[in-house]
Amino acid sequence: PETARLVASRVLDVPDFPQPGVLFKDLMPLFADAKVFRDVVDGIVAYHGRDGFDVVVGIEARGFVVAAAVAYAAGVGVVPVRKAGKLPRPAHSISYALEYGEATLEVHEDAFTAGHRVLVVDDVLATGGTAEATLDLVERAGGTVSGFTVLLELGFLGGRERLAPRPVHALLTV
Ligand code: IMP
Repeated sequence: PETARLVASRVLDVPDFPQPGVLFKDLMPLFADAKVFRDVVDGIVAYHGRDGFDVVVGIEARGFVVAAAVAYAAGVGVVPVRKAGKLPRPAHSISYALEYGEATLEVHEDAFTAGHRVLVVDDVLATGGTAEATLDLVERAGGTVSGFTVLLELGFLGGRERLAPRPVHALLTV
């Protein structure tokens, strides 16, 4: 549809970033384009419904850009999921395996109100490790995940299968 075409028009392929052999998808041009950014954000809100979620979680750091805009458009708040050691108060934390090594994500213990429906957003879904950890973290902190949306899904990396049976909404899948 239209939003898929919009995303496709504002992604840049960057070879060998952050490591040789990796083709990095850069969505900064999408964020910088006023009309495309607005249409993409409005598309996410429309997909889940204006009253379909009570709070938006963004995954550090590019997910914050999307999450804040979606939350503002829907009239709800934002909860940041941060990398280890950044949050000032007691937090839940979860570690997960990367291709080389390990990463840790954290969220404040009091971030969610019981029963609140949480929409999680990020820029790119690759292997799904980051998303899987985030969804588990949200639930551990007492949130109820009602949806997960990314702007771009790298389908060949199997993230959607890894997250199953939880549904993944991607504006564009390549
Ligand atoms: P995953 O954990 O392998 O699914 O990687 C997803 C996370 O890494 C997301 O938070 C993305 O922001 C980031 N990421 C992975 N690949 C890319 C890419 O090609 N472009 C932008 N972000 C990426």
